[in-house]
Amino acid sequence: MLQVQVHRHIGTFDLDVRLDVEAHEILAVHGPSGSGKTTLINLIAGLQRPDGGRIVVDGRVLFDSAERINVRPEARRVGYVFQDYRLFPHMSVASNLGYGRHSGRSRVDFDEVVDLLDIRGLLRRRPRSLSGGESQRVAIGRALLSGPSLLLMDEPLASIDPERKAEILPFIRRLRDTFALPIVYVSHAAEEIAQIADRSIRIENGRLTASEPVLPPGNPTMPDTGLRLIAEVLGHDTGTGLTVLGSSLGRLFVPRRSEPPGTKVQVVVGATAIEPIAETGSGGVAVLPVRAVAGAHA
Ligand code: ADP
Ligand code: MG
Repeated sequence: MLQVQVHRHIGTFDLDVRLDVEAHEILAVHGPSGSGKTTLINLIAGLQRPDGGRIVVDGRVLFDSAERINVRPEARRVGYVFQDYRLFPHMSVASNLGYGRHSGRSRVDFDEVVDLLDIRGLLRRRPRSLSGGESQRVAIGRALLSGPSLLLMDEPLASIDPERKAEILPFIRRLRDTFALPIVYVSHAAEEIAQIADRSIRIENGRLTASEPVLPPGNPTMPDTGLRLIAEVLGHDTGTGLTVLGSSLGRLFVPRRSEPPGTKVQVVVGATAIEPIAETGSGGVAVLPVRAVAGAHA
């Protein structure tokens, strides 16, 4: 289990976040650009130093300002997967995978990781010859083989072609199921979050502004992909006949609901309902068919 309570002040930016992530849990972190997501990940990894707070993984203190504990990044046993892979170009895939390994300490079996990520056929290749998706699978493998007690992923699919993303998501889910690791997964993409995360938090301007469960896929009443979130009925607009919901994504306007204000509802936006909006000037608004399900997961 990962327990984090950190604050950090950089120039005019101020981050103050507390979060817990269980083993076998993928916590998605989303929020606007510049809100502090990468800073948070770097503080946990030890690449940036908190001004104060405490970071504990499985009872092992990585940072504690009061106790003056600050474990070096390379001793933290944190697997870090970057958006831009950061493989060593002069080394084969096999050597890249071996690079992060700490012999005798790794709890993770080389063959198991290679098979899990389906990268056996790539072992002799150089990173230059790999596609984005293949590179990222190798980078994930390298992070796992370092024997981490925690996996941090900062927008790992952001540089990958949309068609290829779907190939990688199942691997990340498999990681969660196979290894008893807390996984912190930064992503802008609601669809990615809906597909792999167990819980999502939103960070805005250095503060946690929402934390909600993400429902597992496969619920027969739900579309397989899309966006699920918990919202609250804020009120009913008699003028437009719409109900206003408050959610981590802002206010949502849906066809009139009967639930009174304050009721928690689950909102499901099917992936097929999500379309890019063509720029139509200041008034360009798309109305999506949204389904609100009362009561669930309040
Ligand atoms: P995100 O990953 O959510 O886009 P970041 O964590 O990268 O956000 O950045 C959070 C804030 O910290 C931003 O306002 C950014 O300008 C600022 N910031 C990040 N790194 C530095 C730095 N090295 N020096 C000064 N400000 C920084
Ligand atoms: Mg970032």
